[in-house]
Amino acid sequence: MKIRSPIVSVLGHVDHGKTTLLDFIRGSAIASKEAGGITQHIGATEIPMEVIENICGDFLNKVTIKDTLPGLFFIDTPGHEAFTTLRKRGGALADLAILIVDINEGFKPQTYEALNILKMYKTPFIVAANKIDRLYGWQVNEKSSFMETFSKQPANIQQNLETQIYELVGILHQEGFESERFDRVTDFASQIAIIPISAQTGEGIAELLTMLMGLAQQYLQQQLQIETHAPAKGTILEVKEEVGLGLTIDAVIYDGIIKKDDQIALMTSEDVITTRIRSLLKPRPLEEIRDSKKRFQKVDEVVAAAGIKIVAPNIENVVSGSPLRVGRGNMESIKEEMLREIEDIKIDTEDVGIMVKADTLGSLEALVNLLKDIDIPIRTADIGDVSRRDIIDAAIVRQEDPANGVIIAFNVKILPSAQEELKDSQVKLFSGKVIYQITEEYEKWIKDTED
Ligand code: GDP
Ligand code: MG
Repeated sequence: MKIRSPIVSVLGHVDHGKTTLLDFIRGSAIASKEAGGITQHIGATEIPMEVIENICGDFLNKVTIKDTLPGLFFIDTPGHEAFTTLRKRGGALADLAILIVDINEGFKPQTYEALNILKMYKTPFIVAANKIDRLYGWQVNEKSSFMETFSKQPANIQQNLETQIYELVGILHQEGFESERFDRVTDFASQIAIIPISAQTGEGIAELLTMLMGLAQQYLQQQLQIETHAPAKGTILEVKEEVGLGLTIDAVIYDGIIKKDDQIALMTSEDVITTRIRSLLKPRPLEEIRDSKKRFQKVDEVVAAAGIKIVAPNIENVVSGSPLRVGRGNMESIKEEMLREIEDIKIDTEDVGIMVKADTLGSLEALVNLLKDIDIPIRTADIGDVSRRDIIDAAIVRQEDPANGVIIAFNVKILPSAQEELKDSQVKLFSGKVIYQITEEYEKWIKDTED
């Protein structure tokens, strides 16, 4: 048995500061000498508790869970800006989340989308109101706590910040969440804490991490215990070509142990496949990269939480965001379980309704749930690009009911033959990279056609 680090994801609209925040936290970790530094994972960074304690200082005194957690495991935001949901069976891969909002811009489509997904998975989260240093007249106090830098601002600047915070409180209220500036939260179980920060100057980061630890204390006392000998469970981040290695899989392991030569089960858009791990790789420490051309080093085994690169045959069609399971002699039952998992997402599809396509299992789940929330009937829900066959199917459905001759496609390609077919067809296609925007366009179309 061991307690693993909570898995944390940073979500928000493009350019609101996800990468900068992670870079700041990583930078402080590297700079803090007395601590053991950070552990670089594939697709993630683990910040040890000593570093968190260093950044938070006295704020953390009352948060007792700090004595049991090894650190915080931050998932790096994927390179592509479209928001993909990372899930595990029955929930989000992330145990906790930071929803980042540019305080000068407020909520944007991807902020709403992220919020909807946090709601769907019931992921505990805090809101980082970022870029306070850009507020008109703000006087920067590098790396100081929010309370300190706030107290040094002139009254009108303080007032300006408060106004912006209440804008956020108002929107969150409309979306079904009560929230307050963190220092005014009276009940953390029912109110979301908003922490004003600057990911650039480091202002407010102490309180941000303290609040994150507070959430861990409130919600994660039980679920972080893992069996260090159990076959691993994980989620695929990406399938990608790596020079000299061929096709590889990047995965986050959230439970158990994974070993070289293990048999694993993976999901393609059609099926569950099994394969054997040829090599397990982790990033080589930065200082060693200079001596060696190789960016990765081989390891024999890894225990959760970990981000790992896997080399294995037959992984061409593995779907990002889908589960990975290690099997020890029980591959058939694991395969069945995984097939059931995808069926669970599709299960509530109806005889009549629209068609839904998405790039990952997580985004499919999110899309299906959001559409159900607004009472849209779904006939088929699948992972993969939009094909000619899909357009033809939708056209047939359309003959019965024009409102259902619709395809909603998230973050997938429209194949050339499908585009060709679409030209001569009355089928309505809504596609894009922001779920929230696609569903809005669809709702508007429904309204317009009804009028
Ligand atoms: P992402 O798309 O959410 O990952 O956003 P980035 O972290 O890439 O940030 C987008 C831009 O905003 C970059 O030019 C950052 O330097 C800038 N930025 C991020 N956070 C802050 C901040 O707190 N203050 C200021 N002034 N700029 C910021
Ligand atoms: Mg980024």
